[in-house]
Order: sequence, then structure tokens, then C-alpha cells
Amino acid sequence: MTRPGGVWQNWARTESVRPQLVEFPRTVEAVQRAVRSAAGRGMRVKAVGAGHSFTGIAVAPGLLLDLSDLSGLVRVDHERARATFRAGTRLHDVPRLLARHGLAMQNLGDIDRQSIAGAVSTGTHGTGAGFGGIATQIVAVTLVTAAGDLLVVDETSDADLLPAVALSLGALGVLVEITVQCVPAFVLHAVEHPEPLDGVLDSLGDRASSADHFEFYWFPHTDVALTKTNSRLPESAVRRPLPVVGRWVDETLLANGLFRAVCAAGTVAPAVTPPLSRLAVRLTGDREYTDRSSEVFTQSRTVRFVEMEYALPADAVRAVFDEIRALIHARGWRISFPIEVRFAAADDLWLSTAHGRATGYIAVHRYFRDRPGEYFAAVEQIMLAHGGRPHWGKMHTLDASALRERYPRFDDFVAVRDRLDPDRMFQNAYLERVLGG
Ligand SMILES: Cc1cc2nc3c(=O)[nH]c(=O)nc-3n(C[C@H](O)[C@H](O)[C@H](O)COP(=O)(O)OP(=O)(O)OC[C@H]3O[C@@H](n4cnc5c(N)ncnc54)[C@H](O)[C@@H]3O)c2cc1C
Repeated sequence: MTRPGGVWQNWARTESVRPQLVEFPRTVEAVQRAVRSAAGRGMRVKAVGAGHSFTGIAVAPGLLLDLSDLSGLVRVDHERARATFRAGTRLHDVPRLLARHGLAMQNLGDIDRQSIAGAVSTGTHGTGAGFGGIATQIVAVTLVTAAGDLLVVDETSDADLLPAVALSLGALGVLVEITVQCVPAFVLHAVEHPEPLDGVLDSLGDRASSADHFEFYWFPHTDVALTKTNSRLPESAVRRPLPVVGRWVDETLLANGLFRAVCAAGTVAPAVTPPLSRLAVRLTGDREYTDRSSEVFTQSRTVRFVEMEYALPADAVRAVFDEIRALIHARGWRISFPIEVRFAAADDLWLSTAHGRATGYIAVHRYFRDRPGEYFAAVEQIMLAHGGRPHWGKMHTLDASALRERYPRFDDFVAVRDRLDPDRMFQNAYLERVLGG
């Protein structure tokens, strides 16, 4: 978000910049004009969404194009259940826009504050061993190229570019329209329970493959996993949402308010973290309800944190998890934030963290006032030893040479970048590091 004084900061407060110029285009033509004018002045351009990436991927020292006003539904293809959105549309607006057409997005991540363009550009994902990340739902995009021209990519036009542009780190151009393959609106039956951690780990493969959407959180210093299992039901299924007060108590007071106190206390007196974590898991995570898919997939997150997440071959998750647990124990660290474990199906997007393999995700977090350094660095070494690929929007230290080895189509992506952005109009320091100059 851009603050008074013209300084842009990301949500996690890990990145900030004072751009030379900020524009808020409301139309596709205004984006084209802005890109051409920046090119004429030799200025680099970066489109930003909601600033929810933890890395410097959205940092815009030249022209910052804030696409908040380029939002809304453009059209719906009812026959094929496809909806085209302006790229700055926030994910939390999507359910309302699709509801009147009886449609929904197939899967979502933990929150819905992001823009649709930002979410797909970094490979944002939810959980579900049979489902891909949000970018796998994209069937067409329109982007403004470095020359200010419009490029439409869909199955009939430049179709070979779709696996690159659907998840493109903001490196290929400014996405202005995005078409999503939707599904008929559906509801989810959610079961959230605290369970013995070892039992969950022993049955992890079965739990992930037998449920539509399975994930769990583990608070270090406890032996409890907070599991979440969501089953897909038709829209006609009876809904039993959490009562508004119950939802507020669970999510605002406990999951966020209590948790903020735990984190703040742990920062000044680390020794209190283990008992407070045990209290937190006793008070949260036991509920069952049925509601519209978007209400169940996403929650609010008001406690600020920093995060590193790696994608692993799904069958490596248990070993990696055990190593991280042993590491925390051995080092005597006091970690107030939980570790999150999720799953996704293999896909064929060139820079997708789930490219070509059934994937398990392990995410580590730290309260934003705690220093993540040692913890994240040691966890990252474990992830890398097991073939991990870092989330593009979350903290990591890899550069282009390390990433090239982890993505079989990396050089194909770079070749498309050379073609669409030969002068690196859309480059910033992060992209230079992860893709090369
Ligand atoms: C509290 C929180 C919860 C999160 N939960 C999840 C989760 O459950 N799963 C998950 O995978 N990730 C999650 N993330 C990460 C987040 O989804 C990604 O970092 C996402 O990219 C953020 O979207 P944004 O709109 O804020 O994009 P930004 O961070 O603003 O931008 C991200 C990238 O997209 C590019 N971009 C944005 N708009 C355009 C455009 N129109 N054209 C071209 N490029 C563009 C930017 O240039 C940049 O490269 C979470 C982050 C936070 C802070």
C-alpha cells in the first residue's frame, strides 16, 4: 500500500520503496499509455496488487502501477463456466461477482485480500491433493507488453505462451484481464480438530489423498496438530455456517487476538512461548460447519507475520517435517507461530512450485517483530536437501542459478521473457536475482 509521503510498503513490512511515480489506471488504455510513457522516459514499470508478497517481487522503484481501480467482472461465458476479470480485482470481491452466475472458483488460499493478478503471478495456492493452485484455473489472459501493445493469450491465440503467462512473476508484462475456469457454486463441510501430531503424521498420505482439502497446523512446543478437512458438497446442501458471534469469537478473539498476545509476549520473554502455545491449541481449532466455499477456504489474518514456504515432492513431507521438528528442539528456539502443511496436484505451468509433481507445502512463520534469520535459514537448508522449491512471494534466498536446477522449463520461461521484455522494462532487483538480468 502507498503511504503518505509516497512510500510503498508491503503487508509484512519487509519491503518498502519510494517510487519515482505512482499511477492508478482505471482502463486498459490507461495502462497502455502509462507503459508507453514510462518507456519513453526510460523508467521501469511494476504493477502491484495488494502488496501481500513477503519478498521484494512487487517493489517498484520506477513507475508503480497500482491496479486497484482496474477491477470488476468483464464478462461471463456461461456455456463454458468461464469468467473474465480485470486484473486488479481483489479475491474477496470474486465470490459476490460470481454468485449471481451460479459459479465459484475451484480452490482458494488462506486469505482473500490479494488481487487476482498478484495471486496468480506468484503461484498462490490453497490445499487439496487433487487441485492445483489458483494459476491453474486461468484459461486466458490479456497483457500489456513492454511496447504498450495488447497480447491476448488463450487456447486459440499464442496458446503455447499460456503455461508461462499464467504464472509469470510480473516479469512478462502487465496483466489487464484474466479469465478463470470456474466451477458450479458449491459448499464445503469443514471439520477442524486438534489431534495427536504423531497420529496425523503417520497417516499423512492417506489423509491428504482421501479428503478434498486437507491441511494441518502445528504449534512448535506442542504435540497437537490442528487439522482442517473440507469436503465439497453441491450448492443445494444444507448450510450450517458458524454463527456470526461464534465466528468472531473463534477467529478474531482467539485465532487472532489471543494469538497476538502470545506472539507479543514471546518476543519479550521467549520462555513463555511453549506454555502459551499449549494454551492456544487447547482454546482453538475444534469446530464443524458447512458454508459457501469462499467462506470456508479463507480466513482473516490480523496478526502480522513473515513467512517462508517451500514446495516439496508430496512423499517427502513427513521426513522434512520430522527434521524441522528435531531442529527446533535441538536449537532450543521458542517459536510462537505455527507450521502449516498443505497439498496440491501436479501441474504443467512452467514456474509453478507444483510443476510436474504431486506437491506438499511446508510453511514456517515468525511474528513480524521476531527476527526470522537463523530459523528460516536452517529450515531452508532442509527444504533444499529434499528438492524444495520456494514460493515466489515468500521469503527465500535462492537465485537464478539455484532455481534453474529446480525448474525443468526455467530456460523456456527466460526465452519468453527475452522475447516479450528484451529491455527488462518489468524488472526489479528481486526478478534480477531469481530470473537473471
Ligand atoms: C496474510 C497472508 C496470507 C497469505 N496466504 C497465502 C496462501 O494461503 N497461499 C499462498 O500461496 N500464498 C499466500 N500468501 C502470499 C500471497 O498470496 C502472494 O504473495 C500474492 O502474490 C499476493 O498478491 P498481491 O495482490 O498482494 O500481489 P503483490 O504482492 O502486490 O504482487 C505480487 C506479484 O504480482 C505482480 N503483479 C501484480 N499485479 C500484476 C499485474 N496486473 N500484472 C502483472 N503482474 C502483476 C507484481 O508485480 C508482483 O510481481 C499470503 C500472504 C499474506 C500476507
